[in-house]
Amino acid sequence: MDKTKDTKLKYRFFWTWDHSMVWTPLVDGIQEYGCSNPYYKKPEVFIQDYKNCIDFCAANNYTGVIIYGFLRDCHGGTGAAQEICKYGRGKNVRVIPGIGVNSYGGVYWEGKHEFNLSTWLDRHPELEAVGQPYPGHPYLRIGCPSKKENRKWMKDSIRWLCETFEIGGINFETGDYGLCKCEECLSKSKRTGFWSPEDIVELLPPLIKEARDARPGILPICECYFNNILDTELHKPLQALPEGSILQFCIDHVYLPQFLSKMTPEKAAKLPTHPKVIRTHMGSQWNNERRRLVAKDFAKLVKKVAEAGMDGVTLFGEVPQTSTVNEINYLSVADFCDDPKMTWEEFTAKKLSPLFGGEGLAKKYIELLEKDKISTADLESAKKALREAKGQSYRRWLWMVEYLYTKSGQ
Ligand SMILES: [Zn+2]
Repeated sequence: MDKTKDTKLKYRFFWTWDHSMVWTPLVDGIQEYGCSNPYYKKPEVFIQDYKNCIDFCAANNYTGVIIYGFLRDCHGGTGAAQEICKYGRGKNVRVIPGIGVNSYGGVYWEGKHEFNLSTWLDRHPELEAVGQPYPGHPYLRIGCPSKKENRKWMKDSIRWLCETFEIGGINFETGDYGLCKCEECLSKSKRTGFWSPEDIVELLPPLIKEARDARPGILPICECYFNNILDTELHKPLQALPEGSILQFCIDHVYLPQFLSKMTPEKAAKLPTHPKVIRTHMGSQWNNERRRLVAKDFAKLVKKVAEAGMDGVTLFGEVPQTSTVNEINYLSVADFCDDPKMTWEEFTAKKLSPLFGGEGLAKKYIELLEKDKISTADLESAKKALREAKGQSYRRWLWMVEYLYTKSGQ
């Protein structure tokens, strides 16, 4: 009998910013840091980055890739995004644009397009939010969620998005950097803080319906924001979202201990009944973790998600698997999602051993990644492994030797 049958997690997503993708080596315009940045690479690199990433997802059972900055004039607009979607579809990997509702540029992140939020608000300044933190910012302007014209425009945008692109889902956000404080909005709630569960519940259902009408089978993913999943009262209103909408809760390393100790099946049962995924900032650029080993924490996270009866994990996927530490992180999520009852030792023996030339060498590799201080003996042991490595193991040990030289300053 397959012991994984009842526990396998259904969803595993990569979350990405277009500008932070580095899946194509040796090109100009690479950025390793920031969010909501301009895009500096050539349009063809945008396409190649995502094709390379989709190849990895297809080979490792990732469900889909979430793309923020999906549409920009400067990286090929509609045609480039269509090509990526088609490629993803061919590989059975869902391409999922990340879009802002009245925020984060709308559906068309950057450009003179009718479904770009800044373009829309330039034409209709009366529809802007009141008291927004970044007035006039090309990417971060906010539309008032109470205005019916904005709601219609968002619906039209979603219809166009679903009809124009072979997308596999939409990652919806209502914005987490400020709320409209016009009289009408304030009459509905206090509107303190940076985001509003009431906005999510009020704005998303018609958009999800529009998306499903236009593209049946689409996955709606609803961002529920940051380090708050244990506050089950806060999320109660989200029960009103359409059935089958995926609720996505974000956590980072600071919140992980609480999540691991306090999340239980009973606690999870107090959350809305929709499918739930944890989006983690662990292993991302934030807090200097973009190229850090977090695979063991990923394993703990995935096990807890499964134990609590939740449905999947979303992680940052901007760095290619040729950065071996990221490869290990990605494989950890994929394999523990497949078999959450597996132990770390089993993962090392089954998955990592063939990648590094045997179980002893796989353990050695992890040990080296976990070291704060690198000795000459460490470096020599990696160089010995490199000399004896074969096939793709050679590339992985080459990465390690380079890493150890850099880290030790030798
Ligand atoms: Zn308003």
